[in-house]
Amino acid sequence: MESGEHQDDCKQVFALLSQYLDAELSPASCEEIQAHLADCPPCIEFLESLKRTIRLCHHCESAEAPPLAPEAREQLLAAYRKTLLGRA
Ligand SMILES: [Zn+2]
Repeated sequence: MESGEHQDDCKQVFALLSQYLDAELSPASCEEIQAHLADCPPCIEFLESLKRTIRLCHHCESAEAPPLAPEAREQLLAAYRKTLLGRA
């Protein structure tokens, strides 16, 4: 089943994205995510909301603030899990 395999891809990207949130993503992993995002609307949507949230955080916090508050990070990860489950 190709759709099942694709979902596995999403989970891998999900793991990489959590590193992305921690700003620990290597350029190679970043390329992997980009490649997956080219053909996966749910992941694109997730990344868009992720970027929005990070921008909001930067807007509210000082320049020295960490990339993303732990609570916001948890919320995003939970939302992403829901997205993946919704596709199953
Ligand atoms: Zn995906």
